[in-house]
Amino acid sequence: MDTLSGLRSDDEKHLSLHSTKCPVTVAAMLPVLAVHGGAGHVPKERAEISCAGVRDAARAGYAILRAGGSAMDAVVEAVTVLENNPAYNAGRGSVLTRHGHVEMDAIVMDGRTLASGAVSAVKGIANPVQLARLVMEKTSHLCLTAEGASEFARAMGIQEVPEESLITDYARMRWRKNLQPDANPVECQMGKMGTVGAVAVDSEGNIACATSTGGMLNKMEGRVGDTPCIGCGGYADNKVGAVSPTGHGEAIMKVTLARLILFYMEQGKSAQEAADMGLAYMKERVEGLGGVVVVDPQGVWAARFNSLQMAWAAAQNDQLHYGLYAGEDFSQPIEQPEQNSQ
Ligand code: ASP
Repeated sequence: MDTLSGLRSDDEKHLSLHSTKCPVTVAAMLPVLAVHGGAGHVPKERAEISCAGVRDAARAGYAILRAGGSAMDAVVEAVTVLENNPAYNAGRGSVLTRHGHVEMDAIVMDGRTLASGAVSAVKGIANPVQLARLVMEKTSHLCLTAEGASEFARAMGIQEVPEESLITDYARMRWRKNLQPDANPVECQMGKMGTVGAVAVDSEGNIACATSTGGMLNKMEGRVGDTPCIGCGGYADNKVGAVSPTGHGEAIMKVTLARLILFYMEQGKSAQEAADMGLAYMKERVEGLGGVVVVDPQGVWAARFNSLQMAWAAAQNDQLHYGLYAGEDFSQPIEQPEQNSQ
């Protein structure tokens, strides 16, 4: 089991103070934001692009938090940055369906009110996460799908984009490869770049999550994965914390992974312990692999996965932490400029 948690040696001191509810120490842990760029197997030549992208997204979300912005604004911004980055399986860069189309899923959740919004199998828009937020804010529903989601996007004045603009050469190459009669579907899924997600706690203690994906490679048309399903592809509750998962959607749905991890936290487990327990249960019970980013209300974060890799980054106390492989935790000051990030 990998990898890291916001609970480090100097945080242990903070944590003991948390248990005595010291407001000064809690304030020092907030705000915080953690993002992931998908669990799986990132090909070697794409590893650095994948890490740079999550660092960019973490910086963008954290800048909003540092300026006093809300956790919801921060997670939507971080996920928008990742959707716009063709290195990830979300927005531009999404994987293709069996028939070669892009159908995207996204969710947001506000831990203050438990309000949530999602879209599934939506086509022809650049930023499904922003449409999911509009579903939350402007409708009485939790999820809109397919043509209904597109109609709603038009009504909200969201610009339609040509499908071609969402499809990268890499996505098309992998789609073709997976259509070959001798294709190994497991191997093909492993090569895929990731779904994206973010969790955050703002300076007011409000918590939010957002997740966005193109889904599984060569999925059937109309397939709805875990991402837009509340409690599976994301959950946020100010009283407990927030989770954004990635991995095999059908497995995540069977164990309602996001809510399962928060349940373990309600039982007194730390963010890291709860993440490990949820991922271990999914592996043992339904043979599912994946990863998560998690935060708790005090600002303790964790980035954990049982897949080979998961690009992740977390920002707290003006420090940026990131990693891709098991056991990695690189860190640098948050303002350090990114070189060759695309
Ligand atoms: N969970 C996503 C889905 O099944 C895929 C992923 O996270 O890589 O749609």
